[in-house]
Amino acid sequence: MMTSPPVVTRFAPSPSGLLHLGHAYSALFSANEARRRGGHFLLRIEDIDTGRCRREFEAAIFTDLAWLGLEWPEPIRRQTDHMADYRAALDRLKAMELLYPCFLSRRELNAALSAPHSATHGQAAVFDTDRSMSESERTRRMEAGEPYALRLRMRQALELAGDLIWHDIDAGEQCAAPAAFGDIVLARKDIPTSYHLAVTVDDALQNISLVTRGEDLLHATHIHRLLQALLNLPTPLYYHHRLLIDRSGRRLAKRDQSLTLRALREAGHTPYDIRVRVGQTEDIGSGH
Ligand code: GLU
Repeated sequence: MMTSPPVVTRFAPSPSGLLHLGHAYSALFSANEARRRGGHFLLRIEDIDTGRCRREFEAAIFTDLAWLGLEWPEPIRRQTDHMADYRAALDRLKAMELLYPCFLSRRELNAALSAPHSATHGQAAVFDTDRSMSESERTRRMEAGEPYALRLRMRQALELAGDLIWHDIDAGEQCAAPAAFGDIVLARKDIPTSYHLAVTVDDALQNISLVTRGEDLLHATHIHRLLQALLNLPTPLYYHHRLLIDRSGRRLAKRDQSLTLRALREAGHTPYDIRVRVGQTEDIGSGH
């Protein structure tokens, strides 16, 4: 009889600030999903944004999550330790002629865009920006050592990948529709990878079989599904959970300093209080 491999979930925070109640919910949600399915829960540190990420926040993540009662196997994966993995994925896409360099600033891009805007995050989707730059201009900028981003040729990528679906535990079968995002940046000017590329590669390398994350990242799954197809990576199951909101109906954000786990701990709240508050009271281990 074939036995299927155990479920693996992950919580993947960016150490760009202190964790707050919303993170506690997301981390506990992920750990509980793994436990309920007899699987494993991993912690990953997503620190590619080196301008915003700090080791002190990473240390605070470990402290806060351990305080909550979460356990995870060591060593954890820290993205900046694995830049070669992202480079390899970019090389593969490059060999497929799916990448092009883009020197343009956001301002230059807006000026170059004449097509009707299909808005994504309030910004126009970008297509074929390389067409708006002459070969001589490109050569000049390269020789001047100007930094450039690497963008995905979305139209060609879609042609290659064909129709794509993924399964969301909450929402059921979903059709991936990444076209609206245009030629997404896969390597930033300042960082030789991007959130989308790094997450997709990591989830595959870590054998994540159930991606749990907030519904604010639902849009990203359209892109990740496409990258999986292009890079020949497996597609995990997804579970996009609701977001916690504050009393005024706004989603919790890093600016709510009083709701950081550190502040709540220092104010005398217990890990159990936090679990009750975020509605994740299942016993997840030895933590309380
Ligand atoms: N690092 C991302 C964040 O902190 C989460 C990535 C993911 O779960 O896919 O928002």
